[in-house]
Amino acid sequence: MAKKLTPMMEQYQKVKDQYPDAFLFYRLGDFYELFNDDAVKGAQLLELTLTTRNHSAKNPIPMCGVPHRAVDSYVDILIDKGYKVAICEQMEDPKKAKGMVKRAVTRLVTPGTQMDLNGDQARNNNYLTAISEKSGLFNLAYTDLSTGELKTTTFDSVNGVLNELINLQSKEVVSAGDLPDELLTAFKKRHILLSKQEKILKQAEISYLTQDLEDDGQKYVVSLLVSYLLTTQKRSLAHMQRAIYYRANAFMKIDHYSKTNLELMTNMRSGKRQGTLSWLLDETKTAMGSRLLKQWIDRPLIDPQAIAERQDKVEELLNHYFERSNIQQELIKVYDLERLAGRVAYGSVNGRDLIQLKTSLQQVPKIKYVLETLDSPVFENLTTRLDPLSDIAGLIDQAIVEEPPIAVTDGGVIKDGYNDQLDKYRDAMNNGKQWIADLQTQERQVTGINNLKIGYNHVFGYYIEVSKVNLDKIPRDRYERKQTLVNAERFSTPELKEKEALILGAQEKSVALEYDLFVKIREQVKGQIKRLQKLAKALSELDVLQSFAVVSEDYHFVRPQMNTGHNLQIKDGRHPVVEKFMGHQEYVPNDVKMGDNTDILLITGPNMSGKSTYMRQLALTAVMAQIGCFVPASRAELPIFDQIFTRIGAADDLISGESTFMVEMMEANNALSHATDRSLILFDEIGRGTATYDGMALAQAIIEYLHEHVRAKTLFSTHYHELTSLEKTLPRLKNVHVGATEKNGELVFLHKVSAGPADKSYGIHVAKLAGMPTTLLNRADEILKGLEHQDVQLTVKKADHKDQVKEAQSQEKPAAPAVEANGQLELFQPQPSRKSTSKGQKILHQLKELNLMGMTPMEVMNQLYEWQQKLK
Ligand code: ADP
Repeated sequence: MAKKLTPMMEQYQKVKDQYPDAFLFYRLGDFYELFNDDAVKGAQLLELTLTTRNHSAKNPIPMCGVPHRAVDSYVDILIDKGYKVAICEQMEDPKKAKGMVKRAVTRLVTPGTQMDLNGDQARNNNYLTAISEKSGLFNLAYTDLSTGELKTTTFDSVNGVLNELINLQSKEVVSAGDLPDELLTAFKKRHILLSKQEKILKQAEISYLTQDLEDDGQKYVVSLLVSYLLTTQKRSLAHMQRAIYYRANAFMKIDHYSKTNLELMTNMRSGKRQGTLSWLLDETKTAMGSRLLKQWIDRPLIDPQAIAERQDKVEELLNHYFERSNIQQELIKVYDLERLAGRVAYGSVNGRDLIQLKTSLQQVPKIKYVLETLDSPVFENLTTRLDPLSDIAGLIDQAIVEEPPIAVTDGGVIKDGYNDQLDKYRDAMNNGKQWIADLQTQERQVTGINNLKIGYNHVFGYYIEVSKVNLDKIPRDRYERKQTLVNAERFSTPELKEKEALILGAQEKSVALEYDLFVKIREQVKGQIKRLQKLAKALSELDVLQSFAVVSEDYHFVRPQMNTGHNLQIKDGRHPVVEKFMGHQEYVPNDVKMGDNTDILLITGPNMSGKSTYMRQLALTAVMAQIGCFVPASRAELPIFDQIFTRIGAADDLISGESTFMVEMMEANNALSHATDRSLILFDEIGRGTATYDGMALAQAIIEYLHEHVRAKTLFSTHYHELTSLEKTLPRLKNVHVGATEKNGELVFLHKVSAGPADKSYGIHVAKLAGMPTTLLNRADEILKGLEHQDVQLTVKKADHKDQVKEAQSQEKPAAPAVEANGQLELFQPQPSRKSTSKGQKILHQLKELNLMGMTPMEVMNQLYEWQQKLK
């Protein structure tokens, strides 16, 4: 038999039944209480003391509570952990309520709909996403409830969807329950909350928001998203913008592994923003600018025209320092208009918000003026989009006091002179005393009673007091007796009563009227939300562009020339973040030369010499160029890349339990199968995670495959020196190496990239740098010598197979890796002999080129001596 519940618990249970998947915060006086399972789990998550209700009963109810003033911080903790919270308020004053106090849920907070984000979070978007699938096509819609942005797109694979979700950093996904298991598993792994919304509502708001969409699937997914919002958010969605369709492939694609590797948004070690590209480029002055910058970094452009338009503006701002400083000064005074617009729609703005809005709007004409003085066609469009909303700014200026209180219900918000009636009330309040004093003088004159006085008390209100001796002088027709004292009588008059009512009511009425006026003003602002959002967008763009100009100037970036072909030439390229961190040390700039006929640079050089820095700097340069920023180089000519793939650094995917080598192969495969001849691939020491021979075999096969089938621009760093001989057979592959020299037995990194392969790998030197014991290092030297000796012998033994190898390779195009046909050892070139021949050849070449007639006999002697030393 079911337990009998108390009336309150019955009410609780009814509400709880409507929100089974949320923590229910149930208001009881000054606390929000959690009961039953919510209490047990909540007490643990929020570190609260778990108590019980009815503890004397057989089955006491678990309970815990949080003080109502601190509720937000507790809600935030639960939301951060991926839960939902329903806030159930008392809907009437408990003192006045008859029977049970009425209660209702006024707010459902979920990870994807959390607003009121402050501090750092204001500079990030919080996206709620909806996904639906139909015959293998996935439609996706997302919104940031605080800004009203609403977008939709379509993918043909789970991977595409997942990548986008990770890009958006969505914490909550809405679905109608039709998603494949693969996605559901990924949600679990990434702590993404899945919310069900089965019913599509038929509200006018939905048809309005979807009216620009053509595709039914996209209409459906947006309707699903908005239905969820309408069901859960008990407030106006007036600021939501009509859904826009975007093509995910209208932008450069960077999968999330590569985004992580390249540290575009998050530092791999600290998990923070410092040390990332987004951190380096962020000199924005507004939170909305900062958010837009991240969106741009997330989606670099591929349309040359669009890139050029951004670059033109950056160049203009870069060349006009004073105008730029002026714009910055004005932008600093611009508040978060996007989010203010959201708050206007929800009706949660107060007087201070409106003053912020006014201050922001007042900057717009100044910004416009500065842009106009630039007198440049590149800003024409942006300038016209800067609508100063002078009607709204004027209204707020007329109506709202400069420093309003936080509360909108206690008065003191509306300016004098804005409303006649309000002025009258205020007159009555403020001039009340004066009016009474005047009345006293007047009555004294009329009655001739000199000690007549007007006073006030709580019980009787205002009164005229006349001493008993003067009672015969009072005008009996006007004076009504109110109270008798020992020596005096107190009276009122109709006029005094009227004034009294006015004075006492004035306070209350003025507060009520102020609130009405405030709500009207808020409604008027609400009517202009769309204009406000457009303005916010234009200002954020300007903010990001000025930020690009600032960093481009500070760090000496140059405008890259973009081409639609395959020519890539960078002079003195740098890694902008590493360079910034190096401080006083010199960053060594490096060129990247990959003309139309070079697809692959094979990079060799000792560990720690700067190979991966060199590769990353190219990727960052490409991203910077395609978001419209200038780039860290003294000159740059770049093709427009459609995608970037990287395999840099070895971070085990611990969560999924995949080994480094497996992850490496998966990422490599992802690049091989999706890259085009317009893509950029960075492979850092591929094949390292397995045994030397099969690692090297794979590395070579991958290079050959890239060369023959993919033709993407590829930087491939390797410690397999044997691979450098591929330059002889693969015409579009070039060797480069990062230089290092030995000085007194110590390794000195030059960080300089030059043509040709590295002479040796210096592994033991690096171990020495790391402080390994000398005996160990000596032993390693011995082993190495032994191996090198063995290697020569093996190579010699196998030399008679060499012709066969060549034959096999020439028959098969694309060249199969030699290892498949001929065993592992044929991969090697005869090392020592190659080294000495190349030295000899170099000297022969220098001899041939020697300009004898231009040299003194002494110089010739010196040159001969130098060669002799080299050949020893
Ligand atoms: P590798 O990939 O060859 O092992 P890294 O690219 O990780 O080497 O570079 C090692 C370190 O060398 C970096 O942390 C950086 O401090 C420094 N470095 C790399 N490139 C340069 C450069 N061009 N100029 C100055 N220092 C550099």
